Amino acid sequence: MCPGDPSVSSSRLLDSIHLPAPAEVLSHLVDVHCHPTDSPISHDVMSTLPIRICAMATRSTDQSLVRDLAVAYPDNVIPCFGYHPWFSHWIAVKPFASKEEHYRNLFLAEPSPKPQTSEAFENLLPFLPEPTLLSDVLAGLRENLIAFPNAMLGEVGLDRACRIPCASPSPPPYAQHEKPRQLSPFTIPLEHQLAILEAQIDLAVELKRNVSFHSVKSQQATVELLDKLKAKHGDAWYAISVDMHSCGLSAQTWKDIERRHNNVYLSLSTVINSRSPAHRELIRVCSPDRLMLESDYNDAAYVASQTCDMLSTVAEVKGWQIEQSWEDNCPEAEWGVVRRLEHNWERFARGGHAPTRKKDRRKLLLEDWESDDESSHRLPGNTHLLTGSHNQ
Ligand SMILES: [Zn+2]
Repeated sequence: MCPGDPSVSSSRLLDSIHLPAPAEVLSHLVDVHCHPTDSPISHDVMSTLPIRICAMATRSTDQSLVRDLAVAYPDNVIPCFGYHPWFSHWIAVKPFASKEEHYRNLFLAEPSPKPQTSEAFENLLPFLPEPTLLSDVLAGLRENLIAFPNAMLGEVGLDRACRIPCASPSPPPYAQHEKPRQLSPFTIPLEHQLAILEAQIDLAVELKRNVSFHSVKSQQATVELLDKLKAKHGDAWYAISVDMHSCGLSAQTWKDIERRHNNVYLSLSTVINSRSPAHRELIRVCSPDRLMLESDYNDAAYVASQTCDMLSTVAEVKGWQIEQSWEDNCPEAEWGVVRRLEHNWERFARGGHAPTRKKDRRKLLLEDWESDDESSHRLPGNTHLLTGSHNQ
């Protein structure tokens, strides 16, 4: 994720990128998840950005960068404040006696760690920063979210694949410090990630803010958490929207989430999701009113072209045309991909969704059957339960 030759100016790059629609159309696009503050900010690029972007924060050192970007470019930047699961071990849920005690409890929780694990811990410890208390993290988040009424919570989430690198935390802009790093054997315990995540989402619900959610190798935990939040917060859960960003969910898991949570949306990126052909299946099964676009890119010079790349994929998979001009009162039957996705973004941003009502099992199976029947791609294993009922 470190493209581009630094000797080429960003504005020249932007000029040379082919975008699939004119500026009057692109101005309706929103990149719902990107990391522009990971690279040095170019005023040339930011002041000519053809789309709007949701700029994510990930750790303590970039919250203020996102804030500054939103202040400088309020028309194009929706600020997002939050703490990414990759850095959740730097946060302590409870007060701690020492840095070593905090990390020891996190990584060596078993009573008698293997000697090699103990050695790996001793190697890793000098690279780890002094932990921050969760209460301090939440206080800072609250302040930033309140300062920007349109701000979202992000990037937050769950990641069971990520291993802790044996390297000191990079200073921003992080993309300039990307280099191969030795990885320790340690991952961040899921319970710890969940505690950090749930506290942040509770705050988002309290302040009625939407969420950008990262989920990697955590399908079951993600589904369970969403169900738990819905039960815990009741109607307040439906006041906010949640975007599952560049997730690796299976099509079936997505369908389950979509059905159980009226307020959960899906956005995919070329940089992450096109590594697997499964992303086209995910787009195919996703309800047309739950899709959004993102770049997940770490350089503002490329967010428009990357977002347009996914725009073309969505247009192709869904069979929607890309508008080449913009008329204000276009009838819904003639909507192209940009207008559909703009409408989805507006509903996402507004929140206030109708609570999902429990449907009976037979009706859910019928919906499954009908949506699969559209492409005859796959039938669920339990279709036989419906035989005869579909034609009634
Ligand atoms: Zn991201």
